[in-house]
Amino acid sequence: MLIRLLNACHHFPGFVYESASLDETVNTIEVSVRPRRRSSPICSACGKSGRGYDTLAERRFEFIPIWGFAVVLRYRMRRVQCRTCGVKVEDVPWGIGKHGLTRAYMLYLAHWARKLSWLETARSFHTTWEKVCQAVEYVVQWGLEQRQLGHIHALGVDEIAYGRGHKYLTLVYQIDAGCVRLLWIGKERTTASFEQFFTLIGKERASKIAFVCSDMWPAYLKVIASHCANALNILDRFHVVAKMNDAIDDVRASEARRMVQDGYEPVLKKSRWCLLKRPGNLTDQQRVKLSDVLRYNLQSVRAYLLKEAFQQFWEYDSPAWAGKFLDQWCTQVMRSRITPMKKFAKTMRTHRELLLNYFRAKKAYSSGVVEGLNNKAKVTMRKAYGFRTFKITELSLYHALGKLPEPKLTHSFY
Ligand SMILES: [Zn+2]
Repeated sequence: MLIRLLNACHHFPGFVYESASLDETVNTIEVSVRPRRRSSPICSACGKSGRGYDTLAERRFEFIPIWGFAVVLRYRMRRVQCRTCGVKVEDVPWGIGKHGLTRAYMLYLAHWARKLSWLETARSFHTTWEKVCQAVEYVVQWGLEQRQLGHIHALGVDEIAYGRGHKYLTLVYQIDAGCVRLLWIGKERTTASFEQFFTLIGKERASKIAFVCSDMWPAYLKVIASHCANALNILDRFHVVAKMNDAIDDVRASEARRMVQDGYEPVLKKSRWCLLKRPGNLTDQQRVKLSDVLRYNLQSVRAYLLKEAFQQFWEYDSPAWAGKFLDQWCTQVMRSRITPMKKFAKTMRTHRELLLNYFRAKKAYSSGVVEGLNNKAKVTMRKAYGFRTFKITELSLYHALGKLPEPKLTHSFY
């Protein structure tokens, strides 16, 4: 029965499934495989068939488990007397080099590891986290070698925190209308690291990039300016809003502390989200709190009103009018004597041209796409847990977000 199933879904010319037996002590179905008589082995170095030289000790290849039993293919590898390469081990179509897992099982595990966490995948199929990792590694490496970079119209660059302390990775996404995928992951967020991405894609391709969305990190801006001469660098709206919110939070926290020290009524207590959220997103309770806070003449209130006034910036269509608004808003803030807000306004002035690129690009590339991808990346990193090394993180991110091509099997097992 099992032999018939295997012949139906996992058959290779030149090889025969000989027998299957169940070893109940270890819950394993052992399937022995032998070469078809008079079939010649294939040289693993050059892929040509040659004369058989000798036969090695039996090797075991793990196949996809069924009905709670592990399935192992047992096969004695032949060595080939190859005309070009000399004596070499044969190539078997179900295996990959020295791996103990069959190709079919690797693809199967890698498929599930994109849906479940790696640990859940290992548990569901009675295998180990390490083997799931091997499977993902194989699929990702294959995919990276086979993928076509093609023409890249729009890029998104973002950093993501990982590991302990202030460690960051640089993630580069393609954000074209028809193709959204993770293209590259860099250790650190330095100029030197980001340069490597442009080495990968080459000068020609880089010169044709039309839009790059990024945050205000100086290393990114510098590298983009030097490699994408023909691109509009757009500052991500999401990051601008986040920076402004940091300023608001700063103002509120220090003012609240001062009020407590000076013995005032703690009006700012529990006001954090009222001041950070857009009015439309407040809960009823927060709305009441906000209208209460707004009655006081506080720095936090003035900062809040400045922030809300800034919303109009995003409504413009013309870069010129948006620029005029930005200048006026910054002047107003600089007169406010609220230090964190003034600092924010200075940053906006420094990046004036990049901010206006959002309008020059006709608002086509807002932060939504990159932000969404980054959220996905964070979830992925959590799912791959086990070892938080750069390599594991890199593998899991390419696997989940790279849209990499996959090796094909004649039969689909999932
Ligand atoms: Zn050869």
